Amino acid sequence: MLPGRAVAGPLPGRGLALRGTVWTGGAATPIDGVVVVAGDGTVAAVGPVDAVGVPADLPVLGDRGWWIGPGVIDAHAHLALAEPEQLLVGGVVGVRDLGAPRPLARAYRTGPDGPPPARPVVAVAGPVLTAPGGYPSRSWGAAGFAEFVDTPERAEQIVAGLAADGVDLIKIALEPGPGWPVPSPRVVRAVVEAAHARGLPVVAHALTVDLVGRALDAGVDELAHVPVERLPPSMVDRLAAAGIVVVSTLQTFFACGEGPTAAANAAELVRAGVRLVYGTDLGNVGTRPGVDPRELDRLAASGLGRLGALRAATEGAARVAGVAGRHGRTGRIEAGGPAVLVVLSGDPLVEPGVWWCPRVVVCDGRVVT
Ligand SMILES: [Zn+2]
Repeated sequence: MLPGRAVAGPLPGRGLALRGTVWTGGAATPIDGVVVVAGDGTVAAVGPVDAVGVPADLPVLGDRGWWIGPGVIDAHAHLALAEPEQLLVGGVVGVRDLGAPRPLARAYRTGPDGPPPARPVVAVAGPVLTAPGGYPSRSWGAAGFAEFVDTPERAEQIVAGLAADGVDLIKIALEPGPGWPVPSPRVVRAVVEAAHARGLPVVAHALTVDLVGRALDAGVDELAHVPVERLPPSMVDRLAAAGIVVVSTLQTFFACGEGPTAAANAAELVRAGVRLVYGTDLGNVGTRPGVDPRELDRLAASGLGRLGALRAATEGAARVAGVAGRHGRTGRIEAGGPAVLVVLSGDPLVEPGVWWCPRVVVCDGRVVT
């Protein structure tokens, strides 16, 4: 046993055993167990301590009381406004960048093929589509983070360009703010049609009842945030019936004063069976790189409970458009599959604060501490 002993770099050639409470993800019950990671970065074995044969000469990390689970996916981030190098060490193994200038998006994106990245897998939306002068072009998105779309023809042209650039999805902003212009229903529909024609899903920034309705009328696939205007039951039911995925971003709303209404909406969405997934809006007010236990707590309080919140951050977020299991980011630990996992010093179902400082992250054949 080498509890707490720091190992960084490539996995030892003969592999590594991780010992603790093991949660393999999804509906699995946590067990007192062991995960054997082979030198090639795959999971050689996972199960109860007495059922998994651990070779005597294998280095062992962890101990009873430690916790091992799948790495987390952040479904809403802005890498240009954050410190992306802090993500992996903080337990995040995949992110979706929902708003960046084209050259940055190209640089961030993890290609669909090729070797595992040994950093978080990054899916990108590229710049946010908005009306001329619309959000976020007059605020944080002034320098290439937004592109203007004012006609169906322009929608077709701009989406075709982004698709050729290799984006994983399209983002459109419907944010009236203090008198900002918003894309018309016709333009939003044209953006969705152009995106869907190329197999690209569309995520909408829409925070008010009226504009969530506009996004739904146009056929968008996801909401980038839980809305901050109280949704009537009819709208909640529409979101559920349409199978819309909603990214949580609750903590940043609490940091800027809109938390209680967003949390009330989140509870209604969960009650109606809407799929809520973990996302922080990393780069926005009150966020920090790495898994944020406050966001997990907000998700838990919305009715998911702590296990449900973890599921929303692992297998739930791993299934979102753009990430969808790439390079083993499945939100699960499975024998034979790539080892993409986090070791914590305690059980996050008991004390979510252990996420502030993961002990070890194993990802793409490397050990990060
Ligand atoms: Zn955002």
